[in-house]
Amino acid sequence: MNKEQILGINYALYKNPKITNRTFNFSLINDLIEKDYVELNWQTIGYSFETRLIRMLKIGEGKTKILLWSQMHGDEPTATAAIFDLINYLQSGESQYLLKHLSIYFIPVINPDGLENFTRRNAQQIDINRDYLVLQSPEANVLKSIKSVIKPDFAFNLHDQSSLYCTSQNKPVGISLLAPATDIHLTINWSRKKAMKLIVSINYTLQELIPNHVARFKDEYEARAFGDNFQKTTPTILIESGNLSGDEERQFIRELNFYAIITAFEAIVDSGYQENDVINYLMIPLQSQEMFHIKLTNCKIETGDKSYTVDLGLNYTEIFDTTSRTLKKCFTLTNVGDLSTQNAYVVIDSSEFLFNGSLMLNHPAEIELRNEHAQIVFEWKYGLRI
Ligand SMILES: [Zn+2]
Repeated sequence: MNKEQILGINYALYKNPKITNRTFNFSLINDLIEKDYVELNWQTIGYSFETRLIRMLKIGEGKTKILLWSQMHGDEPTATAAIFDLINYLQSGESQYLLKHLSIYFIPVINPDGLENFTRRNAQQIDINRDYLVLQSPEANVLKSIKSVIKPDFAFNLHDQSSLYCTSQNKPVGISLLAPATDIHLTINWSRKKAMKLIVSINYTLQELIPNHVARFKDEYEARAFGDNFQKTTPTILIESGNLSGDEERQFIRELNFYAIITAFEAIVDSGYQENDVINYLMIPLQSQEMFHIKLTNCKIETGDKSYTVDLGLNYTEIFDTTSRTLKKCFTLTNVGDLSTQNAYVVIDSSEFLFNGSLMLNHPAEIELRNEHAQIVFEWKYGLRI
């Protein structure tokens, strides 16, 4: 089944062409709001620690209120891009029935300082999603107070997650979903139950698009987090953008966010989700963080007069260059041994190569693999792939 058949929507018509990667800056968002979308109903709801504007858009005049916020972690921009695609769709005239029933409140960027510096935390180095109780960051104050003003019927907390999560079938997780818990016993209260049922509808759509690449985020109570606290009074859904092979800028994942959120809007309007069974939420596999970015299999290690064969797992972290706004990958060796049960985005069979390098774990990778002619075929120096 193709995407158009699932929701009858041609996404390409609504994709905002000005956002093309994950490292857009705050002035791009500002320009979109102040120029391209200036006619819409934006409201400044507060300021970041470095006094950047935090803005919210209201679309629709319906009775049911939905609040969505993105980029609470500044280096998690995928859903922000999807929000501008959703705004295009909602403005297109194709969605009058949604706007008749819903009042949708979008906060595209709740942590604009983090966006500007591509950091998880805000300018005070506070993780806003651990600031719900003590409210020492202006951004957490804004989000908490706007929720008490709007009193939404549903809330969506939009994030990005590590690319190393995989499903129980060892596949990379494209999207993970969670109805956050409201206490340490993971009680399924009325609002969590509603969120779970809505997630079942979202999962149906996503399974059509990325079968077996959908997972449940880890189910733990975090007393300091927004989702866990909002859930106490408002059905709240966490959507985490993951990663799929060949989509490092997460532009396809952005599209999946679009479909996931439209599915939720439709399910809320037609109440179809209420028929869903919570058991189908619990059947979505939990994810685990066990993948590698690169796996070198069958590496022959020779040390003194001893030799043995192992697999090596290499993962990268992304280093942000503030001037060029580009991301550089720094690889570290994270595991050595029999890694046959773990998947990787790239697998290099090293049985024909000569290994030379360091086996120091969690240090920048220093590895070279040479062929029978002593030529270097793969090389990492100071963690950088050469
Ligand atoms: Zn996050």
